[in-house]
Amino acid sequence: MKPKLVRTVAALRRETAQWRRDGLRYAVVPTMGAIHSGHTQLVTEGLNRANRVITTIFVNPRQFAAHEDLGKYPRDEDGDVRKLGKAGTHLIFLPPPHEIYGEGFSTTVSLAGPAKAGLEDKFRPQFFDGVTTIVAKLFIQTGADYAMFGEKDYQQLKVVTRMAQDLDLPIEVVGVPTVREEDGLAKSSRNVYLSKIERQQATAIYRNLQAAADKIRAGIIPQNAMRAATRSLMAQGFKVDYVTARNAETLAIPKHPGEPLRLIAAAWLGKTRLIDNLAV
Ligand code: AMP
Repeated sequence: MKPKLVRTVAALRRETAQWRRDGLRYAVVPTMGAIHSGHTQLVTEGLNRANRVITTIFVNPRQFAAHEDLGKYPRDEDGDVRKLGKAGTHLIFLPPPHEIYGEGFSTTVSLAGPAKAGLEDKFRPQFFDGVTTIVAKLFIQTGADYAMFGEKDYQQLKVVTRMAQDLDLPIEVVGVPTVREEDGLAKSSRNVYLSKIERQQATAIYRNLQAAADKIRAGIIPQNAMRAATRSLMAQGFKVDYVTARNAETLAIPKHPGEPLRLIAAAWLGKTRLIDNLAV
């Protein structure tokens, strides 16, 4: 099926208004394009819940710092449309930047809680302001019943869930488990930056998180297991931003034995920053 493409909020709303008149429920899948099977899994899960799925493609300038990879972020509109059509997306919203950030744009949401956990926020201070601004706008522009987000970006999932709840946005945020390559590397649009050798080394993040999860299940103190994982990654040439065990809901540093934990990592391999996480 060929999805319909819309580039303006007005055109988007004409489509969704008809869906509402027809009594349909619909999900939105926000992406930055460079579509892979992690993204199409979100579409599949959206189709499991709703009658229609909108995928948005917008490389959001406000979530990149000046030194980050906005200029070289992979873009492939034709390939994306084809893959999303195959996955069953009904509508693709591809707004140009001026459609999203008009002249004089000056509003962001002020965040605390999981957005200030000292993870991505510490290393990319502008990131969640940018993410929640675009996500809030997409929620309002689409008026969707469900929003599909990957567990791959675990802190983002928690921040967006919190925002939707705190602002009474009438949308259910649904987390979808991480889709991985056969060797365990989490699928990511940024994996194309890896050299052949780095691509082989990159699986160490997932392997070390798995090893740490096994140790914690066997009774080793989380902090010690994470320290060992950090050392192992550093020995394999990674520059580690963080490798840490956090409360799976609040992302706070765990205080009580038996708390639900999530192991969360971000590390550089050469010029590529990789993130991953795992439930214990
Ligand atoms: P991105 O285009 O990378 O900003 O990602 C768009 C959405 O796809 C986010 O909700 C991501 O968490 C999700 N996503 C990206 N990679 C994966 C993956 N490997 N598995 C599941 N979801 C993913």
